[in-house]
Parts: sequence; C-alpha cells; structure tokens
Amino acid sequence: MSHPGVPKTTDFPDPDPRIPFPHSTTRPRCQEEPGLFDYDYGQRNSNRKQTTERLTAARNACSGCPLVTDCLKWALANPKITRVGIWAATTHRDRQILRKRLVNRLGPDWIDVVAARDRARRDRAAAQRLNPLSVAQARVVALDQEINGPLPPHLPLTPEQQQHNVTQLANALMGSGRTREELAAIRTWARANGHKVADAGMVRKAILEAYDAAHQAPVRKAG
Ligand code: SF4
Repeated sequence: MSHPGVPKTTDFPDPDPRIPFPHSTTRPRCQEEPGLFDYDYGQRNSNRKQTTERLTAARNACSGCPLVTDCLKWALANPKITRVGIWAATTHRDRQILRKRLVNRLGPDWIDVVAARDRARRDRAAAQRLNPLSVAQARVVALDQEINGPLPPHLPLTPEQQQHNVTQLANALMGSGRTREELAAIRTWARANGHKVADAGMVRKAILEAYDAAHQAPVRKAG
C-alpha cells in the first residue's frame, strides 16, 4: 500500500468507520514523503544501520505530527490495512503489542469503547462552543489578552518537544510493567512526598525510580 494518510485503496478493505482517519488542513509528512514510512518485516536484516536511521526519522516525523494520536487510534483499529509501514511512530509489531494491551484494558470491544470516548469528547467540545462564555468569563479572557497579548500562532514543535513526544510514545509502548494497584500506590506515595502526578496515564520515570529507591529493602551489613 502506498503509505499513510490515504486510508482507502482498492486493494484493501474499507477502514473501520468507528474511528475515522483524522482530518488535517495540511498534508502530513507521510503523504509528502511516503517512502520514509515504508517498513516491512525483516528489513532490518538487509541494511540494519540504514533501516534503523530511516525508522528513527519516520518516528521523529510522526512525533511532530498534529495527527499522531488519532492516527495511532486509526492504525490500531485497522490492522488489515496497516500490516506494513510506520503509522504514528509505530511498527507493525508495536501495534500488535498495543492492540493486545487495549484488549486487556478495555476488553475485546475496545474499538467501541475508544470510539464512544471520542464521541463524548467531541460532544463536550461542541457543547462548549454552543454555550458562549458568561459576561464575567468573557471579561477575564479580554483582560488576559490585554495583559498577555493574543494567543501565539501554532508553532512547529521544537526538537525538545519532539523528543518529549518520542519518549512518551516509547513509554507507552514499553509500559511501566506495574499493575494498576502498584501504580495507585505509587501515585499516593508520590503525592504524599510532594511530587505532582496525574490521576491517570503514565507515571513519570523519575517518580517510579524515586518510589523504587524509597522502597528498597535496606542492605544488611555482613557479620
Ligand atoms: S502520525 Fe505519522 S503516519 Fe500518522 S499522519 Fe502523521 S506523519 Fe502520517
């Protein structure tokens, strides 16, 4: 298949309608340079260094792409169409692992669950658009703009932000290897010790390491 961004070709089944391919006003990099995102099994064996460099370049491109989150959901929901290629910074094998995790977490109907969550999020956003700000809220916004100026235009991600995204993706793929109960205990400990930690999602590596260090059994002295 010619890579990404073109979810439907005559050679492949129709994409799953529950998770639509994300819309963008600008062409994503995979449409501009599809060869960069082509990747099939065993390619690393032919020219390992070159393939690894290309994979890294494709992953970096995806990590700076505004569609990455929705693209990943779409790729995961359409395994037959995405058998090959890099999609949202993932290889075929990465996607297999992520699908298994989704089945474990959300059950075999995980696509329905994800689609319902997306729908609810879109509905909330639409409701906010339909319910304009109150006079007091509008004054606060106007005051904020007066003091801080208008919102900055959408800027391309910096290399640091891209690296951050790559790390987030890598963490998501690797997982923390902890059970839900362990993560809950880690969050409780982290808050009690002055760390900021979100109620859901990944726990930062630094916090996991601090927790492990604080819970290591003391080394007994010999003798
Ligand atoms: S995340 Fe990557 S594969 Fe998906 S649309 Fe963007 S550049 Fe293409």
